[in-house]
Amino acid sequence: MYELIIIGAGPAGMTAAVYAARKRINALLLSKDLGGQPLTTVGIENYMGYQYIEGPELMQKFEEQVKQFPLEQRIGQGASSLSRLDAGFEVGTDQGESYRAKAVIIATGKRPRPLNVPGEERLRGRGVTYCAICDGPIFAGEKVAVIGGGNSALEAAGDMVKIAEHVHLVSITPLTGDQILIDNLKDASNLSTFLEHEVVEVEGSSRVEGIAIRDLKTGEGKKLEVGGIFVEIGLIPNSELVRDIVKLNEVGEIEVNYACETGVPGLFAAGDVTDVPEKQIVIAAGEGSKAALRAHKYLQRL
Ligand SMILES: Cc1cc2nc3c(=O)[nH]c(=O)nc-3n(C[C@H](O)[C@H](O)[C@H](O)COP(=O)(O)OP(=O)(O)OC[C@H]3O[C@@H](n4cnc5c(N)ncnc54)[C@H](O)[C@@H]3O)c2cc1C
Repeated sequence: MYELIIIGAGPAGMTAAVYAARKRINALLLSKDLGGQPLTTVGIENYMGYQYIEGPELMQKFEEQVKQFPLEQRIGQGASSLSRLDAGFEVGTDQGESYRAKAVIIATGKRPRPLNVPGEERLRGRGVTYCAICDGPIFAGEKVAVIGGGNSALEAAGDMVKIAEHVHLVSITPLTGDQILIDNLKDASNLSTFLEHEVVEVEGSSRVEGIAIRDLKTGEGKKLEVGGIFVEIGLIPNSELVRDIVKLNEVGEIEVNYACETGVPGLFAAGDVTDVPEKQIVIAAGEGSKAALRAHKYLQRL
């Protein structure tokens, strides 16, 4: 039985780990990866102490700091279940392991929202991707589609017009991202925009060969021949683990109070997976530290 299990090793989880280790809590850090969303981010200009740093490099520094302390880690394992025991919690993993602890911090962040259309899941990783920054270069010289109309989609389109043969930008709404990002695309001769269009199917046998889209105003269907599609339509919280145990808000985020408490004694949450407003690295890190300090107080009182 550990005293504490921290699930997730993004900015929130790794910061919680450092705070827990410094309090000499017997803790386990369990995560699918080390770094979370910043691994897919190029330039970060708003994490204090660094005027500019790339996401993976910042997460490398977080990791080095975690490694300064004797803390057990299981990286590459996802938590697949969490149940309450008489005294504490049991966490089951996707590798068939199970771990017990008196307290748990959920720091599982967010993941890209899928389109939920036929063909998407089957061709995931075979032309369907959710991170233009990570996978864009693979599609250099090809025709691609970027799905979405917010900042992530506009940034993805801005990157891809520089390297792809042609970029189709498809959004169910008018463009909602920052004007500066919209302006950046104005002169791109290899960009076509389909606003108020939805994707109805991703087509292809073993790889993406095209997408079927539909004009939401006229109902007219069109086919776009593309080799890659970048789905950039927002993020959803990884809160499924605790959805039957704690209160979630209308977008699935875990409701917490000012001290990262979920309402279930011993169960804390921190970072993007919570309903704390503004999703930023500095905020997730701060919330991770608060959750660990509050978990420490909880453990002391037991
Ligand atoms: C493209 C992009 C650019 C961004 N740019 C900036 C920026 O410039 N500045 C800024 O401050 N913020 C930026 N952000 C936001 C920032 O990345 C997030 O606010 C921050 O990463 C949240 O940290 P987190 O630890 O809460 O969650 P995440 O970073 O999402 O980490 C979650 C962790 O939990 C793990 N996990 C998930 N589910 C499970 C499970 N079931 N079992 C075990 N582990 C699990 C994941 O593998 C991951 O390690 C950006 C985000 C994106 C997507």
